Amino acid sequence: MGSRNVFGRLAAGLMAAALVLVPATGISADVTPAPAAARPPLAGKIVGIDPGHNGLNYTSPAFLNRKVWNGREWEGCDTTGTRTTGGYTEARFTWNVAVYLRADLIRMGARVVMTRTGNHGLGPCVDTRARILDRAHANVSIDIHADGGPRSGCGFTVLEPVADGPNTRVIGSSLRFGRDVHAMMLRDTPLRVSDYYGRDGYMRRDDLAGLNLTTMPKVLIETGNMSNAADAALLVSPGVQRAVAAALAEAIARFLAGR
Ligand code: ZN
Repeated sequence: MGSRNVFGRLAAGLMAAALVLVPATGISADVTPAPAAARPPLAGKIVGIDPGHNGLNYTSPAFLNRKVWNGREWEGCDTTGTRTTGGYTEARFTWNVAVYLRADLIRMGARVVMTRTGNHGLGPCVDTRARILDRAHANVSIDIHADGGPRSGCGFTVLEPVADGPNTRVIGSSLRFGRDVHAMMLRDTPLRVSDYYGRDGYMRRDDLAGLNLTTMPKVLIETGNMSNAADAALLVSPGVQRAVAAALAEAIARFLAGR
């Protein structure tokens, strides 16, 4: 009990000394006052996220086979998406990345619009997904997918729009955004540029509603190849999913900042 008193007195003495010493150091005088609540980097921006496919798409081939106009030709409403040999679905992957990305973007001050609300539904069709984002007047949008390519191939590919009328005004800006996505995927994720699809990680596509019908800058990322064992191991990892989301958030921030 006696020792506690000694320590108590010692602590009180040290605190008093500290209180005296702080002003004497002059440190406080050099500290610039923090600006009142710095404006978050994406304040006032709207970002669209389209997580490819949906968890129950496989239950209704009739719904998926319904034809929709994609701006250039008739296309199926949607597909089931691919899966790893272990059964991890693309729909689940794209949903997880989208949820992480949404959180990152909201933290950065953006308003986020998504084309689906969970991974336990059907659709919507690809033309509806494009329209949801167009009607929200998003400043930029990303379509998130993973590929079901040849087993031997791996890596990511950025799919870019080709001018067709509705999207003509956003081709240049989409290509700029695609370069940001490509650069941040390489910098911030373990996924590499595709060695089996496109050229140097890029591919122009004129047959996808998401790219044909967009009225804001948009690209589609095939994040990796779910059929490839090495890519699949990365894609199913929550840590890699978070890294992909963070890379996409940084690409969006860079693009919107005009960097
Ligand atoms: Zn897909």
